[in-house]
Amino acid sequence: MENLEKLVIIGSGPAGYTAGIYAARAGLKPLIITGNQVGGQLIITNDIENYPGVPKVAGFELMDIMAKQAQSLGVRIVNDQITSVDFSNPTKILQGKNNYAAQAVIIATGASARWLGLPSEKKYMGHGVSACAVCDGFFYAGKTVAVVGGGNTALEDAQYLTNMCEKVYLIHRRQEFRADAVEVERVKNNHKIELVLDSVVDEILGSDSPLAVNGLRIKNVLTNETKNLAVEGVFMAVGHQPNTIIFKDILELDAENYIKTTVLGKTSTAIRGIYAAGDVISGNTRQAVVAAASGCEAALAAKNYLNGL
Ligand code: NDP
Repeated sequence: MENLEKLVIIGSGPAGYTAGIYAARAGLKPLIITGNQVGGQLIITNDIENYPGVPKVAGFELMDIMAKQAQSLGVRIVNDQITSVDFSNPTKILQGKNNYAAQAVIIATGASARWLGLPSEKKYMGHGVSACAVCDGFFYAGKTVAVVGGGNTALEDAQYLTNMCEKVYLIHRRQEFRADAVEVERVKNNHKIELVLDSVVDEILGSDSPLAVNGLRIKNVLTNETKNLAVEGVFMAVGHQPNTIIFKDILELDAENYIKTTVLGKTSTAIRGIYAAGDVISGNTRQAVVAAASGCEAALAAKNYLNGL
């Protein structure tokens, strides 16, 4: 039989590490199980300038600092991927390469940006390809970039990028936008944004040395005609998917598979002793600082639960 932990935290992004830091200081001796992408989404972010207290830092470096801070407080971190859970009894069971048993669990498994799936997208990731305009936009000041997508994220990203970029192409695969009408109006009235509709990205073009994007080949889906756009950056905003597949049928998920908490924006789920924190929660703002705050909230809620409060 595996050791009975007081608290296991699944996930190693800002929510997971912050939960670990608070839980360790509360004497819960937490165990963090990292998941496959140790450090979460921020490790694929070039530079971060909007995390308070850390003026400019590479994403992987910030996550390394958080991990070390957690470890220095006694948090144990194991590299494993949980593939199934059983929350039906007071002792919760988690299965990965190893099995874990816990009195309380914080789910901080995050969400993953959806990508187009092009090999060139993978090649230039972090070198002109990004899924986070707020994180990376500043590094394209004065340049021409593209945003792909037609939802609220894409339209908001396009507008945000006009604050620093010379020009922004908004590439969307049809005429109608999924985004709210008010955003569509704003985009149409923004002279720095050029709409490229009924179009998809066929290939991301660039150089090998240095590894850098210098264009896009786009295809009109109605005519199959292709043309090149000169851009130095491309921001994918084709949606996110929460990492919740193992909680399906166990926890209540919203229409987009994010975990529903009992109070919007808070961390308690309908199962006692099970908390969710960060990007995985339904209705949360998907920013690192918000995820960290959510991890704090979950740890304090777990502490109260374990102390019988
Ligand atoms: P959405 O799922 O709303 O939009 C994704 C967009 O990407 C769609 O326009 C979709 O096209 C397009 N897309 C998906 N896959 C591909 C592909 N393979 N190739 C090309 N285009 C593709 O995601 P968002 O991240 O924009 O928003 C997620 C949720 O968060 C939504 O509910 C949104 O309203 C909300 N949100 C709210 C905000 C606010 O209120 N301020 C801000 C940001 C998000 P198509 O439309 O053709 O399917």
